[in-house]
Amino acid sequence: MSDEETIFSLIIDGKIPSYKLYEDELIIAILDINPFSPGHTLLIPKEKVVTLDKLSSKSAAAVGRMLPKLSKAILEITGAEEFNILQNNGINAFQSVFHVHFHIIPKFPDGRGLQFPFKSTPIDHEEAIIMTEKINQIIIKGL
Ligand code: AMP
Repeated sequence: MSDEETIFSLIIDGKIPSYKLYEDELIIAILDINPFSPGHTLLIPKEKVVTLDKLSSKSAAAVGRMLPKLSKAILEITGAEEFNILQNNGINAFQSVFHVHFHIIPKFPDGRGLQFPFKSTPIDHEEAIIMTEKINQIIIKGL
C-alpha cells in the first residue's frame, strides 16, 4: 500500500476530472490525456499500489476480467484491428505515474499507436467526449 497521492488517486477520488469509460468498486478505466493513438485507455485498479507485483489477487482478477472486454469496446469504436497492452513498473521502466495501471493502445495501419521511441499528442477533447459516451454504452450493454 502506498500513501503517496498521485494523479490517478485524485481521479479515483473524483477530485479531478477524467474521461471515464468504466468504473466499479475495484477498477476504473479512463482515456489517456496524452494518447499514442485515439482510444488510448488506462485501466487502473483503485488499490493504491505502485507496481504490479504489489497488487492483490482480488484487484488483479478485476483487471484481468476487464482487459478483454475493454479492449473489444475500444477496437469497435476506433476501428482499429490491432492493439498493444503496455504496463510499466518503475522509473527506469518508463513509469511516470506511480499508481499501477495498464495501457490499452490501439494500433493503426498508418503507424499511430505504440512506437519506439514513444510519441504522443495531446488529447482531442471533442473526440474524447464522443468516444467516452460510445465506449460507456458498449461496456454497459456487454456486462
Ligand atoms: P506510465 O508512463 O506508464 O506511468 O503512464 C502514465 C500515463 O498517464 C501517461 O500515458 C500519461 O499521459 C497519463 N496521464 C497522466 N495524467 C493523466 C490524466 N490526468 N488523465 C489521463 N491520463 C493521464
